[in-house]
Amino acid sequence: MAGPRYSFSAAAGPLPAAVAATVAEACLDWQGSGSILGLSFVCERFKALQRETEIALRRLLAVPQGFRVLFLSGGATAQFAALPFNLLAGGRAVYLDTGHWSRRARDEAARHGPVLTLPVAGLAAYDGWLGEEAPAYCHLTSNETADGVQWAEVPALPVPLAVDMTSDFLTRPIDFDRVALAYAGTQKSIGVPGLTVVILREDLLGRAAPTTPRVLDYGVQAAADSRVNTPPVFAIFVLHAMLGWIEAQGGVAAMAAAARRRSTAVYWAVDENPAYRAWVPPDLRSRINPCFRLADEAATAAFLAAAQAEGLHDLKGHPDVGGVRVSLYNGLSDDAVAALVGFLGAYAAIGLAA
Ligand code: PMP
Repeated sequence: MAGPRYSFSAAAGPLPAAVAATVAEACLDWQGSGSILGLSFVCERFKALQRETEIALRRLLAVPQGFRVLFLSGGATAQFAALPFNLLAGGRAVYLDTGHWSRRARDEAARHGPVLTLPVAGLAAYDGWLGEEAPAYCHLTSNETADGVQWAEVPALPVPLAVDMTSDFLTRPIDFDRVALAYAGTQKSIGVPGLTVVILREDLLGRAAPTTPRVLDYGVQAAADSRVNTPPVFAIFVLHAMLGWIEAQGGVAAMAAAARRRSTAVYWAVDENPAYRAWVPPDLRSRINPCFRLADEAATAAFLAAAQAEGLHDLKGHPDVGGVRVSLYNGLSDDAVAALVGFLGAYAAIGLAA
């Protein structure tokens, strides 16, 4: 009999079995009112669901008064454009360059206004934060999904900081004294594709350029309760179910502890075996997307095939980076991590003996 099948995909995370069961049931019937798949976004039942989802999110992340929560579509990629439309206000932006996704965000912003790219090493020395040259905002990617690099904590900056948290949202607390705007697609650690959560300081509303598409305009969306057009109803339902699950596990602190425990086990298995090389310096290592290479890089395809034969799927590194990438999103089971860690040890032992 074939064993369990585990996916370590970076693109989308698994839902815990209990959440998947809740969702499956609601697809047939939700609380006696028919399938969730046909729920109208203008009915009171949906509005109540959206309100409850926002309340749960605020509770889990301790979102302070003075911040608004938006439920949008278009993915994090739409937010790459929304940021300059809403926040540039004739000024310029600073983008901290940490890897693939911070560059993608920067490249989109650069189509809409003046953007300065800063390496992280240049952060402290940068003298344009204050005065006439002060940027309208600064952007960073809290976890680089492709490169396996994560900010241990975000910096305190004297300008509004916008943070792409697509791959580590709700895997650790957010310091809202430092973060003026956080955004994240929900498909990795908190649900399914189609929904992007934006949490932003109220004073950032109403600054949008006149040409801003209405669906991307934070002020317009906030005034319409994120219902300028049809919101992703199903994805909001799944988020609601996922937030309930996270709360039952012990909240964001429990997710952070799991990420720490699981990533430590993976890095340990990698570091202790000369068959593998993790190239990210320890203080920058992602707790969500650990990346490594085989010492013999030519053996990568054989390694991935052997993993797959053991039911361990989607471990191939990002095409721009290569190597191996493990994704440890909230919904992944501990069994999956244990199976992977066991495989890493066994493969290294066989590889070295051969
Ligand atoms: N930012 C980060 C950090 C990501 O990992 C991704 C997707 N992998 C995106 C942005 C883009 O998200 P989407 O495809 O939902 O637009």
